[in-house]
Amino acid sequence: DHGLSEADPEVRSIIDKEKERQFKSLELIASENFTSRAVMEAVGSCLTNKYSEGLPGKRYYGGNEYIDELETLCQQRALEAFQVDGKKWGVNVQPLSGSPANFEVYTAILKPHDRLMGLDLPHGGHLSHGFMTPKRRVSGTSIYFESMPYRLDESTGLVDYDMLEKTAILFRPKLIIAGASAYPRDFDYPRMRKIADSVGAFLMMDMAHISGLVAASVVANPFEYCDIVTTTTHKSLRGPRGGMIFFKKDPVLGVDLESAINNAVFPGLQGGPHNHTIGGLAVCLKHAQSPEFKAYQNKVVSNCRALASRLTELGYKLVSGGSDNHLVLVDLRPLGIDGARAEKILDLASITLNKNSVPGDKSALVPGGIRIGSPAMTTRGFSEKEFVAIADFIHEGVQITLEAKRLVSGSKLQDFMKFVASPDFSLMDKVSD
Ligand code: PLP
Repeated sequence: DHGLSEADPEVRSIIDKEKERQFKSLELIASENFTSRAVMEAVGSCLTNKYSEGLPGKRYYGGNEYIDELETLCQQRALEAFQVDGKKWGVNVQPLSGSPANFEVYTAILKPHDRLMGLDLPHGGHLSHGFMTPKRRVSGTSIYFESMPYRLDESTGLVDYDMLEKTAILFRPKLIIAGASAYPRDFDYPRMRKIADSVGAFLMMDMAHISGLVAASVVANPFEYCDIVTTTTHKSLRGPRGGMIFFKKDPVLGVDLESAINNAVFPGLQGGPHNHTIGGLAVCLKHAQSPEFKAYQNKVVSNCRALASRLTELGYKLVSGGSDNHLVLVDLRPLGIDGARAEKILDLASITLNKNSVPGDKSALVPGGIRIGSPAMTTRGFSEKEFVAIADFIHEGVQITLEAKRLVSGSKLQDFMKFVASPDFSLMDKVSD
């Protein structure tokens, strides 16, 4: 058996290039992180060879004595890492990632076309929370269920709970989803619990982005108020790519969540668990109980605050005016540029972040902002001083974007771009001739 360099130099070389890119750039994508060598060792192990459909002790394949031990250990560590009482809560560690975990919850507790409400994607929510446009049901969640997104109050950048309450009373969802992909503040769980109770809905938190912060208790604890908590495992939690679903053990609204959710994962939507991922996750959840992990998560938040205050000093408008977690959302529209251009220019300088829509954007195709996260560079050892420097680099990148826009606006290129965008020039017609 050969190692990768010998067996496939082409793939080896791509991996080497990607590794160099990761190590040489300033990685500021809020959903990314650098997992540990120990996690990667587990993920790259023989655990990938084994089929184990079912749950520990109840498998459809033989030879699972060690896999049972592993999955049970992973479940125990998951409950410990989030300090939840194993008598009241259970967990499924098999979801292949965050979107499947969410869809598994929906199919567990809803019937096709039941109603749900999640934060709208252009306001920071995730696709899997039911995204749709006026023209198209984009996400599977909005295709198979009836979705009515709630939104932010555009004047404050905070979730508009009053509007959520009014809409919930009219729409009567069976499920309300807290959690986001681009929201720099905590959710008001007591308020959302009250709203869910008033309409007889389940309350679920998708803590994918902030699960590391939740484990370290540096943000509010969703387990106190929610019936179900889902998460990815590869963002602030710093584990392998995967997902988890936590559920209350006592029935909620007459539903036995434990069996409904376990059955939705398998055989409902998945087959064999990815045991190599479960191995890596168990390692990650051990790290997550260490004092070093807590210190790391505290630094993620303080670094993000330092970044936010430097950007504010430089005159930038931040959605909600700042951040209580691991990300900031910068509204670039007051400067007259969009997030896509800034992302591109910063990419050329090896500063990796992403364009992001901001409340009030006219089109999702031209997002007006950028999202900047602190987890990955905090893992690389950066502290507040370096995050202030990052704000200054981003500022320089934005200045260059503005300069590029100014240069283009006085050039023939501008005329050309207008021509390409005009009805006189339809590339599709020419191609299809
Ligand atoms: N939920 C939230 C809040 C997310 O931000 C994401 C991913 O960005 C997901 C779910 C989906 O996770 P995955 O990409 O693993 O399917």
